[in-house]
Amino acid sequence: MVTLHEGSTPLVPAPRLSERAGAEVWLKLEGANPTGSFKDRGMTCAVSAALREGAQAVVCASTGNTAASAAAYAARAGLRGAVIVPEGKIATGKLAQALMHGARVVALRGNFDQALALVRELVDRHPIALVNSINDFRLEGQKTAAFEVLDELDEVDAVCLPVGNAGNVTAYWKGFVEADAAPRMLGFQAEGAAPLVRGEPVAEPETVASAIRIGNPARWEEAMAAIVGSGGAIEAVSDAEIVDAYRLLAAGEGVFCEPASAAAVAGLLRYGPRGARRLVCVLTGHGLKDPQAALESAGAVMPCEASLGALEEAVLA
Ligand SMILES: *Cc1c(COP(=O)(O)O)cnc(C)c1O
Repeated sequence: MVTLHEGSTPLVPAPRLSERAGAEVWLKLEGANPTGSFKDRGMTCAVSAALREGAQAVVCASTGNTAASAAAYAARAGLRGAVIVPEGKIATGKLAQALMHGARVVALRGNFDQALALVRELVDRHPIALVNSINDFRLEGQKTAAFEVLDELDEVDAVCLPVGNAGNVTAYWKGFVEADAAPRMLGFQAEGAAPLVRGEPVAEPETVASAIRIGNPARWEEAMAAIVGSGGAIEAVSDAEIVDAYRLLAAGEGVFCEPASAAAVAGLLRYGPRGARRLVCVLTGHGLKDPQAALESAGAVMPCEASLGALEEAVLA
């Protein structure tokens, strides 16, 4: 088993957000996984299976976090890793991780959807394991987050999730069904990358939330089945709403997530709790993944001369 002891992430109450939302809100901090996103839950399974099956390398298309996770678990397994990312479109932290873990990082002149279509063809021709969430082992690992939520809260009315390639909402629902629970799945996409909301693929997806910049989700049918089957909903939020939620979480709750994760909270604030009394928002990735996004939406630093008077002015004024 190839593991970095992923999972068992904190589930913390969010008092200020609860007050705003008019419901009891809990945050599942998936950024606390070994590489900083929930992708690790699935990657331990997918890479373990690849090793068992004798694959020589693992490959994925990625908006960033799958690449960071695949690179780490490939390194752990002693396998070669190749990650295909849209050129210039992934967050700095994720790029640094993939490179440091020794993966071959390929910057494709195209978007995520094109990258995924190409790697699917690649693995048909070579003994390489595909570790995107179209790999069923990924979902088997990711569903464990639902079990953890149920271990801590005996009742949950709804779960808010950001939706990109739509594997995670599918995995949560699978986990809840297996555990005989049925919270509503509330999925949120960015307005510029909202194929499931529009009901058709988006050719050129665009949003500040790079992790969910996906125009043609691979798990389309399964995700819609999860959302409909749970009595949930799929809705869109604007980049401005995502950034507001991103800042509110960091400055109001002390929780720094990446922009894509904040889409779940933006959705809750825009569309309301829909009758749910207790909800869990899944914060899928750590804020340090994307320092650029943070610096662009946070306040400026305060310059100061090296004197007590100037310091008093800077700190207290
Ligand atoms: C991968 C990812 C998502 C989207 O998950 P899907 O399974 O592709 O829907 C959301 N947020 C973050 C931080 C991610 O890394």
